Amino acid sequence: MEPILTLYEFQKRFTSEEACFEYLKNLHWPNGFRCPVCGNSEHYFLSGNRLFQCKNCKHQTSITAGTVFHKLHHPLSVLVWAVYLVSTTKKGLSAMELQRKLGIRSYKSAWLLLQKIRQAMSPVGRLKLTAEVEVDETYIGGSREGKRGRGAENKIPVAVAVETDGKTMGRARLNTVSSPSREDLHAFIHTCIAPGALIHTDGLPSYGCLEGYHHEPRKKTKANDDVLPKVHIVVANLKMWLRGTYNRLPSKHLQRYLNEYTFRFNRRWNLETIFSTLLWRCLSTHTITFADLKG
Ligand SMILES: [Zn+2]
Repeated sequence: MEPILTLYEFQKRFTSEEACFEYLKNLHWPNGFRCPVCGNSEHYFLSGNRLFQCKNCKHQTSITAGTVFHKLHHPLSVLVWAVYLVSTTKKGLSAMELQRKLGIRSYKSAWLLLQKIRQAMSPVGRLKLTAEVEVDETYIGGSREGKRGRGAENKIPVAVAVETDGKTMGRARLNTVSSPSREDLHAFIHTCIAPGALIHTDGLPSYGCLEGYHHEPRKKTKANDDVLPKVHIVVANLKMWLRGTYNRLPSKHLQRYLNEYTFRFNRRWNLETIFSTLLWRCLSTHTITFADLKG
């Protein structure tokens, strides 16, 4: 992935629709055009409407067809700018900010574009966490923030795992779960963590009898009441980010927000490629419609 370091460099490169088109074309087809239907590489280019027509099967396709931007009518420069802003703004941005910054006509249209970009932030490949991992659960939403127990009404339980390596943290995974039950937490662990890993949890009985892993529950002591310091940092940062960026916590779309947070967190040391990674993800992710999102 080609690094895009600064806003200055970005502006110098993406000066026109043509420049955005060329960049997207090379990202989409790094080895040249391939017909999505028959795989043929020979094509006509209908430049007026930027369509590629396969010489073999006559199928017509565009740079955004079949991608997360499918059937969006924004200029390519708006799409590229939106991905740049979403990926490089440290705390992310709301649909209203996106609308204002890019002059998108309606809030709904900006919101849909942002949701589609978030869709491209969903985990792919399912690379599991390895080695040593802290696992905990928290609650998001409702009128008061909190952990387990009372006050948890209307809150959504979220399972959190983060790789730990001495003093540093590696990658994280955050998934909504229907309850902090043994079944749900074990399923989260099996989905997100490679077998054989060393897992640290607190003493919640739901984590008991964890098969396929080395499980070391940690007990609180007077001297140490934070037995899962790394995962608690992830949770604290998540809550701060949600509070600071979104006025109303979108419980229905919470997993998308968790995906966005995880995408950023797992690339916090790769900021120079985060824009091109996300743009590439947008081109290789199937779209999601307004009806899907509202359904
Ligand atoms: Zn074809």
